[in-house]
Amino acid sequence: MRSTVVGSFPVELKEASSTKDKLLNVFGVYDPYKESIKQAVFSQLDAGIDIISDGQVRGDMVSSFSKFIPGMKIEDGNTYIVSKIRKPTGEISVKDLLYAKSLINKYYDGNVPEGKGIKGIITGPSTIIHSSRTSFYKNKEDAIVDLAYSLKFEVDAIEKKVKPVYIQVDEPFLSTGMVDMKVAREAIDIIAEGLSVPLAMHVCGTIDGVYKDLARFNVDILDFEFAGNNVNIDVLENNIALFNGKKIGFGCVDSAVNELDSYEVTEKLISRGIDIVGEDNILLDPDCGLRRAPVDVAFSKLKLINEIKDKH
Ligand SMILES: [Zn+2]
Repeated sequence: MRSTVVGSFPVELKEASSTKDKLLNVFGVYDPYKESIKQAVFSQLDAGIDIISDGQVRGDMVSSFSKFIPGMKIEDGNTYIVSKIRKPTGEISVKDLLYAKSLINKYYDGNVPEGKGIKGIITGPSTIIHSSRTSFYKNKEDAIVDLAYSLKFEVDAIEKKVKPVYIQVDEPFLSTGMVDMKVAREAIDIIAEGLSVPLAMHVCGTIDGVYKDLARFNVDILDFEFAGNNVNIDVLENNIALFNGKKIGFGCVDSAVNELDSYEVTEKLISRGIDIVGEDNILLDPDCGLRRAPVDVAFSKLKLINEIKDKH
């Protein structure tokens, strides 16, 4: 049984303090987010997380991708689609992932234990398009397919250069009922094409109305929230046969509540998850990203997951 995170970690921006950083700052090349990535990586590793993220510290899940994609423009924090969506102007997250990977290596003095590693995370095409405004595309579905081809460049770059444990696509919009599931699935097929590492899809929210569709996606891991949601666990239990062959990312601490979850409640939930899914097919993680939690609370939540995991 392994543990992971959904992705984001709280950001604490540090001003340049060392002489080298101050010098970089003078030339406009100091990167305040590097410290945040370091903090996110070391916190996850200290807490015992097996498959970590770079903390996704550079901004919200839509604009951190849309700002690199020709055809999309950001104004007042909103993404607008103004022309045909094309391939990204460069790699989006590869540099941060490589830095995070080097930190893992450093943390373990060059001997990274088996099963520990990093994952690449992208926001899914359906979620990005449904969070954007378009005057160019007559229908969102064409935009979703074009964006899937665009994001495929990033996914391939992550696979080739970072060699992650797996790649995760975040598609929270799939639980809203607003998305055409056939097109969403086609978009994931485009991303999954030829991939040699496992592909995961994170969908937060209640899956009651969409689980049958989600079970049909061409992914190896489906990640849902089970702590801050009292519907999903029953849906999983009653329909486990539908998810046959897939691993389940099992959100077991509530990322919407900024205090530490109860040990007893979390342990009970995890035991129930293991009974339903089986130890070999379950990945423990928080319900969603932890961006909004205070740093110490985010750390405690991750530590709690691993304390319970280590007892099993
Ligand atoms: Zn989520």
